[in-house]
Amino acid sequence: MKKQPRTYKIRYKRVFFAAAILFTGISFLYLLFHPVLLKASTIEVEINSEFKPEDQILFVLGDDKEVKIDGEVDTSKLGEYTLNYKFHQYQKEVKIKVQDTKAPSITTKNLKTDMIQDIEPASFIEKCEDATEVTYHFANQEDFSKPGRYEVQIIATDQGKNETKTSAILERCEDKQGPTIEHSDKRIEFKQGLLPDFLEDVSIKDDFDENPSLDTDTSQVNFDQPGDYTLIYIGRDRSGNETQKTRSLTILKNEELNQKIVYLTFDDGPSKNTERILKILDQYDVKATFFVTGNQPSYNDWLKVAHEKGHTIGLHTFTHDFASVYSSTDAYYDDLRKIQDMVKDIISEEVKLVRFPGGSSNTISKQYSPKIMTILTKSLQDKGYQYFDWNCDSGDASGNNIPADTLIQNATACQSQYINILMHDTAAKDTTVEALPKIIEHYKSEGYVFKAIEIDSFAPHHGVNN
Ligand SMILES: [Zn+2]
Repeated sequence: MKKQPRTYKIRYKRVFFAAAILFTGISFLYLLFHPVLLKASTIEVEINSEFKPEDQILFVLGDDKEVKIDGEVDTSKLGEYTLNYKFHQYQKEVKIKVQDTKAPSITTKNLKTDMIQDIEPASFIEKCEDATEVTYHFANQEDFSKPGRYEVQIIATDQGKNETKTSAILERCEDKQGPTIEHSDKRIEFKQGLLPDFLEDVSIKDDFDENPSLDTDTSQVNFDQPGDYTLIYIGRDRSGNETQKTRSLTILKNEELNQKIVYLTFDDGPSKNTERILKILDQYDVKATFFVTGNQPSYNDWLKVAHEKGHTIGLHTFTHDFASVYSSTDAYYDDLRKIQDMVKDIISEEVKLVRFPGGSSNTISKQYSPKIMTILTKSLQDKGYQYFDWNCDSGDASGNNIPADTLIQNATACQSQYINILMHDTAAKDTTVEALPKIIEHYKSEGYVFKAIEIDSFAPHHGVNN
């Protein structure tokens, strides 16, 4: 009887060994048919987390480097992706679900509004953190049509349909105060016939309305008559409150208003011809403008003479080299500073009258710096300069020694109240000098006066092409 337990023990061991062999056998058989063991056939991955397809392999019956994985998983986008694990003849498909299981983290802010503003749930959100796009809605059907204090419940839902419920305070008030209008201390002063931008330095603010309207009432201003006037700024908010602010302005007499004026302009000088041009201008007692460069400093004394005679010296650039002056806005302004300094040395004045080489409409600058003319034409004026193109072309730039008759024909064909004639002052343009008397005589007989350009003179501007 004592032997019985021993027998049991032996049997138990045998069963155990048999089971172990069976299990090993089955496992081995299983692995023979499934030589790649993966963690799961469907894997859930949180959005934006790191995911490596090779980390999903638990065991390979063989060299794990021979497992090929097809397919891609973009963990930055929600969705279901498929990966295909291939090992020799064996294939196993695994679904990867990129999901967002974390609810948005929301910080709200309270809101104080007038009765007009649309109340959107998103208006109460100060900060929202979530891996996916979040939409907001009110937890209850809200009616904000009466003034008062509301506690609003907002539900933020992300693309994984996780929700965060939060609340904020809304204060609805009747807006009874009009907007505030402010402007700089700058005096509004302009010449008769010109119309400045009255709103340029005016700002308007309202306690509730982010876009209050601003209008100018100039019904008390007689633009035809020089004098002191008052204009009224009128601001309105969306609740209908109105604010008025008056501002005084002065219209100055404009001597040029009813005059027909020719502005003779000579580019690229000084040159050996400057002296001859000045002599002709003297003979006819007319004034002109020289847009000069720094290329022939030996004639600079003539610029001093021209200035003393009442002609204007303008800036045409120091080098007149398109490739360098139009290589960048910095290069342009460096060059402009050089010609400005040169002219200042000669006439002791800081000149701000400019003519662009090629005019503002030139397209050559495009090959050196796209859009540079668009930038320069604006920034020059912002810096207090004015640039002068022309509205009448003598044609003397189209070649050297163009017959004087041709130049006269071109330069006398223009008809407008203000005429700015483009001519050149260089050694090679003798025929320009020859044509000059006839050009002056023509416009004199038409009743024109000849003036040197000033900063607020008529400034023809071409269309900018670059
Ligand atoms: Zn030029």
